[in-house]
Formats: sequence, structure tokens, C-alpha cells
Amino acid sequence: MDHGSKIECKRDPEVNVAFDAVIVGSGFAGMYMLHRLRGLGFSARVYEAGGGVGGTWYWNRYPGARCDITSMQYSYSFSEELDQEWSWSEKYSPQPEILDYANHVADRFDLRSDIRFDTRVTAATFDEDAKHWSIETDQGDVVSAQFCIMAVGCLSSANLPPFEDIEKFEGLLYHTGEWPHEGVDLTGLRVGVIGTGSSAIQSIPVMAQQAKTLTVFQRTPNYAVPARNEKLDPEFERETKAGYPELREKMRARPTGFYFDFNIQPALEATAEEREKKYEEAWARGGLPFLGAFGDLLFEKDANDTIAEFGRKKIRDVVKDPATADLLCPVDVFGCKRLCVDSGYFETYNLPHVSLVDISKKPIERLTEQGIVTDGIEYPVDVIVCATGFAAMTGSFDNILITGRSGLTLTEKWQAGPRTYLGLSSQGFPNLFMITGPGSPSVLASMIQAIEQHVDWMADCMGHMRDISAQTIEPLVEYEDNWVDHVNEVSKVSLRSTCSSWYVGANVPGRPRVFMPYIGGFPIYVDKCNDVMTNGFEGFVLDGEKSNAAPRVRLTEKWRVPVDVDIISPAMIAARRVPVV
Ligand SMILES: Cc1cc2nc3c(=O)[nH]c(=O)nc-3n(C[C@H](O)[C@H](O)[C@H](O)COP(=O)(O)OP(=O)(O)OC[C@H]3O[C@@H](n4cnc5c(N)ncnc54)[C@H](O)[C@@H]3O)c2cc1C
Repeated sequence: MDHGSKIECKRDPEVNVAFDAVIVGSGFAGMYMLHRLRGLGFSARVYEAGGGVGGTWYWNRYPGARCDITSMQYSYSFSEELDQEWSWSEKYSPQPEILDYANHVADRFDLRSDIRFDTRVTAATFDEDAKHWSIETDQGDVVSAQFCIMAVGCLSSANLPPFEDIEKFEGLLYHTGEWPHEGVDLTGLRVGVIGTGSSAIQSIPVMAQQAKTLTVFQRTPNYAVPARNEKLDPEFERETKAGYPELREKMRARPTGFYFDFNIQPALEATAEEREKKYEEAWARGGLPFLGAFGDLLFEKDANDTIAEFGRKKIRDVVKDPATADLLCPVDVFGCKRLCVDSGYFETYNLPHVSLVDISKKPIERLTEQGIVTDGIEYPVDVIVCATGFAAMTGSFDNILITGRSGLTLTEKWQAGPRTYLGLSSQGFPNLFMITGPGSPSVLASMIQAIEQHVDWMADCMGHMRDISAQTIEPLVEYEDNWVDHVNEVSKVSLRSTCSSWYVGANVPGRPRVFMPYIGGFPIYVDKCNDVMTNGFEGFVLDGEKSNAAPRVRLTEKWRVPVDVDIISPAMIAARRVPVV
């Protein structure tokens, strides 16, 4: 498979060098972690497998890639100057612009000098005597660090199904998450797209403009809400920037970590006409806030049935061929899988050169020299685009041999599903932090918010450890067990736990079915993290501490905001029914 242009690494390996921290990954998480650690006077080395910063936005260069949280909110909040100086061109910015932003941040905060690009961390081993981590890379580096910080991303390990005879295919084969940097000219080519998740839904309308024919192989249909993307109105930008600090504060108080109009009224208490009106209004505004049309949509199946039917009706209104429309209509819970946001996705199926193949009952059998075989039929294609997603949340951890106490590897420990305390760390792996790890809100929150909160908490924790001369921090197993149980219990109150999504690892055969992100709401989670810190890192053991001084709040102050009581969502109410342990 073509992984895109990759720069050869031409530097000497680093051997026997010690840092306070090694950070793995230079997406938004790794970059911000580096910035904060430097600010506190810690030495840090970042290793990044890619040739530049930006993570998700460095790798996912497929046509149509863009964010689905509005750009004015999907951006760092830690610097007011950055907020004011950067301008987004669109409501939902395209990938190249988000990558430009990441590069701008790297330059503005002078981050590159501490990042080693084109370098994949292969192993991290905890030395119990020296109480530090030894980190190895594929470029020959062997360095040590008190802290090892995994900023490896929740959606960064591309999932390429092991299609039989994949090596026989003579055409071009790409994964959306590893798209060639020079782009792909599909003009005049027969294109086969495998998958109909978010990346497919974003890219199909754009690829169809070039391709001679486009055949989509669909296992499960997905709901999608129109983005209503547009050029950013300068007046809106000016107003938003004038009130940015207030907006950022409001975002922190929201269950999803981003701000939008949310109606807490239950759908089941509205009449059918009222519901229809609200859905139409929310549909006209577009985007993920559509799910905020009523408060009970993700908790009551009967309520969800009403929005699901509305979503299906919209598909049937657009797609002219009734058989194709039927195939495109999902039958499961609306919003159970990550809701997709589209620009002309369903309309694309009305084009004469675009067709849909149902592989729900007869999966892809094999590839041939010329194409894709399913149900005994060969579909000839020149290019195969695998929009098959990621080994979400834990895939990039599994790719590194992480060995903790007593030789136990993290992959072994997580065999039956990830086990963490607060998604921040895992017992048996002292001083190993995970930014947006499983068990934290992560992919259920606006991720840059979630990243900033994790980094600020970790930086305050490391600052405190230095203040009291503690050498290691590690969760107590009973606190970790309680948290894992809590994450699981809370997930059951949401309809999101009821379907086969990547939230539960269902998109990759053989993975354990465990609901991985914390669904109780961002502010509840943040409260919990703050309480843990205020109570002297409750649930953690700090080894070697020479003082019992109370933790000093350096960076987490801004996360101590009251929950927005007007918007306490059913998610949060439901989560509160399950006591936060
Ligand atoms: C197509 C797409 C669209 C998205 N849109 C949104 C959105 O609209 N809103 C939202 O909130 N979130 C969105 N996300 C989620 C997105 O991943 C996060 O918002 C955010 O960019 C994650 O940043 P990160 O630094 O945690 O991880 P990443 O951006 O994934 O960065 C992780 C980095 O770690 C590196 N890495 C991994 N393993 C190793 C290793 N062993 N050695 C060295 N380097 C390693 C990777 O190369 C990568 O560069 C989207 C994700 C995708 C895939």
C-alpha cells in the first residue's frame, strides 16, 4: 500500500540520553503537552512517526476531510493571542487548513526543536530499580525518562481488513487515514470505496466528481446530518473573537465540551407535530447539534425511534432509486454510532456513475488482479479506497511494546478491554500517562478540549510530584477497578452502548466488546479529576514523597468551572444515577 511520501530519517540516534518526559506523538495532544512541560521547566523529547505535526490532520488527507465541530470551537483554548490571531475560512475547516493551524502553533510556540519526526516508538519499558522508562524507537534511539506520555491518538491506527488475496490486486490501494501526501488523481478511473463511515461519507461526494465510476461497498448504512458548511462570516468571526473567553468557558461546562443550542425537553413529551417542527429546524441548522433537538434522544428508545424515522425519511426524500434508498437507510439507533456530518453524500447516489453494493450478508470474498469479489460477482476497479476506520482508542497502544512492573505488557493487561483510572493511567505502569485514554470522555467530547484538560491535569500532577520529590505515581487497583466498573455502568444508561460501533471495538474482528470512552459527560468527569487532585491524588500511590504539601493548582484552575445548570443533559442526569466513584 502506498503510505504517501515519507522523508528518510537522516539523523544520529539518541542513545543514553535522559529526559524528564518522553511524549509519543505530535498531534494536538503531544504538541500541547510539550508546550506545558517546557513552561514548567521539564525537559521533554517528542517522537512522532509522521514527517510533521498535526497527527490526525497530517495523516487524513483524503478528499473532503474536515472537522465536524465548528472550527471556532475545534481549536486550542490555552492562548488568547492564538485565538485572536488565527482566522478560519470556513465554518467546518478542511484538513489542509487544520494542518496549517497545527504548523502555525508549532512555529509560534517554537515546538519543533524538541520533536523528532519520522520516528516511531517501538517499545517502552519501566525499570523498577531506576524508576524510569526506557524508550526505544525504530531509528535506533534508546532514551530514558521519568515520565512516558502517550499522545498516540484515539483514531490513529488505521484498520485495514485482511482481505483475501489483497496482494494480487494490481491497481492502487489506499486507506483514507494514510492518504498520499501528493494527492490522488482519480480522473477517468473506476473507484471502489469500502466502508460507509465518517471518512467515506466525507470523501465519496468529492471523489465522485472525478471518478469515471464509483462503487461503494457497504456493510452497515450510517445516518448523516447535512453540515451546512459555509464560508465563515467575518462579522460572526469578529463577534466570536470578542467573546472568546466566555465561549471557551461555556464549552467547558457542556457535556460534549462544545457549545450549541440544546433543548432538554424530552421528545416523548412533545406532540408529533412539535417534534417534526423541532427536527426540521435542527436539520436546517445542520451538524452534530441536530442530536440536541430533544433531551432524551440517546436515552429512550421510543424517543430515538422518532428521530431515526425522521433521518430515514430525509434519505428517502433525496435518493431517487427506492432500492438504493432502502439500502442506505440504517435500522439501528440514531446517533448510536458516531453521527456523521455530510455535504451532499446521499445526493451522490443519484449520479449515473455511482452505485451501491450491499455486503452486509455477503462480505467481500477476496480481491483479484482487477477488482473486488462479493457474492460471486467481480467488480472491476482501478483504485480501491479503504474507508475502514481505525482500531480505535487502543490500537496505537497495542502497536508499542509497553512493559510495566513484573514484565507485564499493557496489551496483556488490556486483553479483555482497557483498564485505566480516569483514562489517565493504568495500575502496574507507573508514570505512564495517556492523553485521552480509554475511560476518559475522549472521542465523546470535542477532542481538543479533552486534550487540554488532560494535559493540564498531568502537568499539575508532575509539578506537584517535583514539589514533594515524589518519584512515581500509580493508581491503586481498587480505584482503577471501580472506575472501570463506573465507565461500564454509565454506558448502559445510553443507547450508544447498544450497537456494534467502534466505541465498543466492534469494527475490528477479535477485539473485546467494551464501551471504551466515558459517557457521563465532560464536566462530571472534569469535576472528578479535580476532586482527585484536591484530595492529594486520591486513588494514586505517590512513591518517594518527602512532603505532604497540598497539590498546587497551576494549570487546572480554568477547568474548575461550574456545570452549566441550564443544560444538565439527560446524559449527566443518568450518569448521576450511577454514583461517580
Ligand atoms: C478524519 C477525522 C476527523 C476528525 N474530526 C474531529 C472533529 O471534528 N472534532 C473532534 O473533536 N475530533 C475529531 N477527530 C478526532 C481527532 O483525532 C482529534 O480531534 C485530535 O486531532 C486528536 O489529537 P491527538 O494528538 O490526540 O491524536 P492524533 O492526532 O491521532 O495524533 C497522534 C500522533 O501520534 C503518532 N503516533 C502514534 N503512535 C506512535 C508511535 N508508536 N511512535 C511515534 N508516533 C506515534 C501518530 O503518528 C500521530 O501523529 C477526527 C478524527 C479523524 C480521523
